[in-house]
Order: sequence, then structure tokens, then C-alpha cells
Amino acid sequence: MDKTLTPSGAAPLIDPFQRAINYLRVSVTDRCDFRCVYCMSENMTFLPKAQLLTLEELDTMCSTFIGLGVQKLRITGGEPLVRKGIMTFFDAMTRHLDSGALRELTLTTNGSQLEKFAPDLAAAGVRRINVSLDTLDDAKFAQITRWGRLPQVMRGIDAAQKAGLRVKINAVALKGFNEDELFTLTDWCASRDMDLTFIEVMPMGDIGNEDRLDQYWPLRDLRARLAERFTLTDLAERTGGPARYVRLEETGQKIGFITPLTHNFCESCNRVRLTCTGELYMCLGQEDMADLRAPLRAHPGDTAALEQAIRAAIRLKPKGHDFDYSRQVVDGKMSRHMSHTGG
Ligand code: SAM
Ligand code: SF4
Repeated sequence: MDKTLTPSGAAPLIDPFQRAINYLRVSVTDRCDFRCVYCMSENMTFLPKAQLLTLEELDTMCSTFIGLGVQKLRITGGEPLVRKGIMTFFDAMTRHLDSGALRELTLTTNGSQLEKFAPDLAAAGVRRINVSLDTLDDAKFAQITRWGRLPQVMRGIDAAQKAGLRVKINAVALKGFNEDELFTLTDWCASRDMDLTFIEVMPMGDIGNEDRLDQYWPLRDLRARLAERFTLTDLAERTGGPARYVRLEETGQKIGFITPLTHNFCESCNRVRLTCTGELYMCLGQEDMADLRAPLRAHPGDTAALEQAIRAAIRLKPKGHDFDYSRQVVDGKMSRHMSHTGG
């Protein structure tokens, strides 16, 4: 990003480590129609509606960030597509794509509602989406998501591709669960022209009886397994996030690895995360946050206080996170759920 100018003429968001913040991830709801075992407990208590940002407030928040130089917006949750009226919000963001201020509007979804919403998302200007899918086996899918049904997600992926959306699959690597599907998942993605990214499981939130160390399958092991069958070429491509990419020479496929626990990606971090209640987390792996809802609600129709609060928050962005599984304890464990910050 040009560090000297934003579309509104305001100074861009630069943190104390000279990182330009141009990527905002927004959780639009803490609710979900699934209960993935690594993400939620079976009995979740969700927030009362009054605490959530309204769709209009979400618009104001995002528009203010875009005015300050945010060029990429990823909508997430909880499950973003279960938020009532969410298409109104997507439609509202189209104006920023049209003006050129926003380069990309995208979302991360479990796919359950895509059959219904894919055409509308494409019409709103969404071009690429991430669909989270850990297994291609019906029974295992029901087990890992507790409430999800695979055929519904498959219909959603079909609908997304039919609507012209580019689909990337995100799979959480889970020891003893989808290790045996490494090649099946890879082949399936290749056959449907979808990129695939593996995510290392992170210590986020209380998930009931599940044990993090039992779930942890280091991606360096996964990568070594891939290398037994394919020739892997490291790609220079960086997104400012925790993903690294390789190309499988035999298929031409791009495979991503998100390794927040075994790799240090913080030095190039370009992103911040807004929760559905208007808290801004400057780092996924730290508890520090700034309340942006208070200045937003205190000054309806005037975003000066909000802008000031955003700038103050960016000045506090930490250098990096503290996750560590290395001593057989989950150090740096975060008390909030991934569905709260949005992943
Ligand atoms: N519901 C949507 C979905 O599942 O794609 C969006 C929100 S979900 C919290 C975003 C991503 O976080 C998903 O890809 C999910 O697999 C991942 N995730 C959730 N809990 C995680 C954990 N403890 N460690 C690593 N990834 C996690
Ligand atoms: Fe819901 Fe996504 Fe969390 Fe699964 S990972 S419970 S789909 S928010």
C-alpha cells in the first residue's frame, strides 16, 4: 500500500513497527449453525442482540476503516451467512468496490448457506470465498461439526462455483482425524480447480472435553507426507498473514499452510480484527483490544471520535503473538473463542 495517501486523503494506518494496516477481518455474528469441536463447545451461550453491532453500524465501521486505507475486507463469524439481513451489508459494501477504495470483499464460511446466497454474493462483487471443510466423509463431517451435514455444504460449493466464485478450501489439520484424507482432499480440490489450505489447530476458547494436544497435527509433518508423493516448490507469495504456499509440480496445484504455532509471521502482519460487538483486536494471539462501539454509539453521524479510537488502537498493535505448544502445555492459550474474533 502507498503509505502516504488514503482515498479520503487521511493519513493511512501505520503501526509502531511500520506495518501498514490495510486488511480488516470482521466478525458479523458469534452464532453458528455448526458446533465444530475445535471451535465451540456444544452448549454455547451467545451474545444478546443489543451488544451486536447493527448492520448500519457494521457499515459505518467498515466504511471508516476503508477511508483510512483498508483495501481488503474479509467477513467472517461465527457463520457470517446466518446473520439476519447480511446481504444488505454486502450490498452496501459494493459502493466501495465500485469507487476503487476497496480492492477485495470476501468471506470465510462453513458453506451451509451458500446454496441460497452464492448468486447474491457474486452480484455484490465478491469474487473469492474460503469454505472451511475438514473431511469428505459424511459421518466424520457430522462428528467434527456436531450439527453439520456434508451434502448441504457440497451443494453450497456447487452453487458458489456455478455463480462464478473462486473457492478455496480451508481444512484444519487434526491428528488421527483427517490425516488419512490428506491425498483424498488434495485430489478432490485439484479435480474441482480449488486451492487448498491447511490450518494448524490453535488454542482458542474453552471447547469442553476436547483436548488441544490430542488434536494437534503439526503442518511440518503434513508437509513431509505430501512430499512423499509430490514435488513441492516453495512459492514466494505472501499475504501478510500466517499462510505460506507451495506448488505441487505434478498437478500445478497451490497448497497453503497456516502455521501460527510453528512459524513466525508477525513481522509482516497487515491485519486487524473487529468482533461482532465492535472490539478491535490488534493481534489474534493477544488479549489486548479496543472498544470501538462506544465511540461509534456516542457520536451518531460523526465518525471523528471513531477514527481517533482506531488510530489510538493501531498505535498499540503488538509486535507478535505468544502461542506455544512446545512444552506439552498450551501456552498463550486464548480465553475467547475463534468464533468471537473470527479466525
Ligand atoms: N464459520 C465460518 C467457517 O467455519 O469458515 C467462519 C468462522 S470460523 C471461526 C473461521 C475459521 O477458523 C475456520 O476455517 C475454522 O476451521 C477455523 N478455526 C476455528 N477454530 C479453530 C482453532 N481452534 N484452530 C484453528 N482454526 C480454527
Ligand atoms: Fe461455526 Fe466456523 Fe466455528 Fe465451525 S469453525 S463452529 S462453522 S464458526
